[in-house]
Amino acid sequence: MDETMFGQALGALRETAAGVSSAAQAGRLIVVSNRVAPIEEGQPTAGGLAAGVLDALQEMGGLWIGWSGEIAEGESRIQPERQKGRIRLQMLDLAQGDYDDYYRGFANSALWPVLHYRSALARFSRSHYAGYRRVNALFASAVAEGLAPDDIVWAHDYHLLGLAAALRAQGVTNRLGIFLHTPFPAAAVFMTIPVHEELARALCQYDLIGFQTEVDRRAFEDYVLREADGHLLPGRALMVFGRVVRTGVYPIGVQVDEIRAQAEPAAECPQMAKLRASTGDSKLIISVDRLDYSKGLNERFLAYERFLEQNEARRGAVTFLQIAPPSRTDVETYREIRLELEGEAGRINGRFAELDWTPLRYLNKGFARQALMPMYALADVGLVTPMRDGMNLVAKEYVAAQNPIDPGVLVLSQFAGAACELKAALLVNPHDPDAIAEALEQALSMPLAERRERHAEMMAVLRRNSLGTWRDRFLGDLHRRG
Ligand code: UDP
Repeated sequence: MDETMFGQALGALRETAAGVSSAAQAGRLIVVSNRVAPIEEGQPTAGGLAAGVLDALQEMGGLWIGWSGEIAEGESRIQPERQKGRIRLQMLDLAQGDYDDYYRGFANSALWPVLHYRSALARFSRSHYAGYRRVNALFASAVAEGLAPDDIVWAHDYHLLGLAAALRAQGVTNRLGIFLHTPFPAAAVFMTIPVHEELARALCQYDLIGFQTEVDRRAFEDYVLREADGHLLPGRALMVFGRVVRTGVYPIGVQVDEIRAQAEPAAECPQMAKLRASTGDSKLIISVDRLDYSKGLNERFLAYERFLEQNEARRGAVTFLQIAPPSRTDVETYREIRLELEGEAGRINGRFAELDWTPLRYLNKGFARQALMPMYALADVGLVTPMRDGMNLVAKEYVAAQNPIDPGVLVLSQFAGAACELKAALLVNPHDPDAIAEALEQALSMPLAERRERHAEMMAVLRRNSLGTWRDRFLGDLHRRG
């Protein structure tokens, strides 16, 4: 498709998505994700998906379908639709059993660990999987209600791998796309899910499957070609399970200018004044992650301990601030990691702290996204070392928040999706505490000219590949007939 047609298609999509109020009118954009609420700006939304989708939909309008975050008494149910600014919301309340099987069970105890290469942590059960299919069918009923023939559906993430199959089973022939925010693992890892074939078959009922990186896309293609008897067609579409499926790489971006504006000292809140006063002249290292085993928190704490061991001169002159809002607290593995980290933080502080210095500040709570930006800007180092991550928006936000005149340095795991784009960061292997310790020292002593150069290079990438680009490229491809 040439540039003009591409632009026209998107223009049309925006107009219809933004201005249409009747469900029967053509060309609506319907976004489906596990969670819709809480989405109000200013609330802590500890998740990249919510942040990205909210920003995208606020700009172009449309219908957003997802779980309300509420447990229904009795059966799961679909709430009446409501309007929030330019976004129309269709929320579902889930029955306790559905929530347990679909969300806590299959999605977060089986799929999430496997997609992040942690099969050993996965807990599979057939009844959880049955619940996952049941809830995907419920989401499909909400989507199918009032669906017009040329509406397009954009589903998000690992919770909804079965949505397209459920819609096709209801006779829906609309254009359906899904974007996977997590990694897609190597075929041998994916195959540790006992129902991998059924899942892949369901996933291939979408017309377009979007991945964060080329590595993820290749892993999926590899599975399809080697394990599912698929074939590659011209243009890199796949013929598999009797259908043509297109795939693409759409790294999710951030809103660069908004972030920088929020990071300006003028936008600071009273909490920031406290942080400034308490860190004084000492260098600040910041990390912000949901409390999740994929984020490599424990390994990072050990690396920081190694750094303090090896760099005596830095003791008393550096503070490591780890913000880690709890997440999925009703899943056992997440409760365990919380206890473990509290122990580690206490141990490291016990070992190194002085009367006037706490080496590691571990905050087990979330902040509004906006409030994080000035903290990023204040920090000399952004330390982002997940063991695996689909993208990691924090890495991008840290870069975007920096003052270009005197920017901080990003230390980034090579296994975060963001590492494919942010090549001017100090890339580290999160399994190697010595490498992280070295990178910390290199970051803290990096000359200004080098900091500026690396920052400018990363900003160019972020500008080229903004959140708007991500949305427009995915929707442009979904809109285009294959
Ligand atoms: N975030 C937030 N408040 C917090 C911690 C994180 O708003 O206390 C935001 C953060 O700014 C980022 C998102 O949550 O936009 C986290 O996205 P990321 O891709 O880094 O990780 P995910 O949580 O999606 O695995």
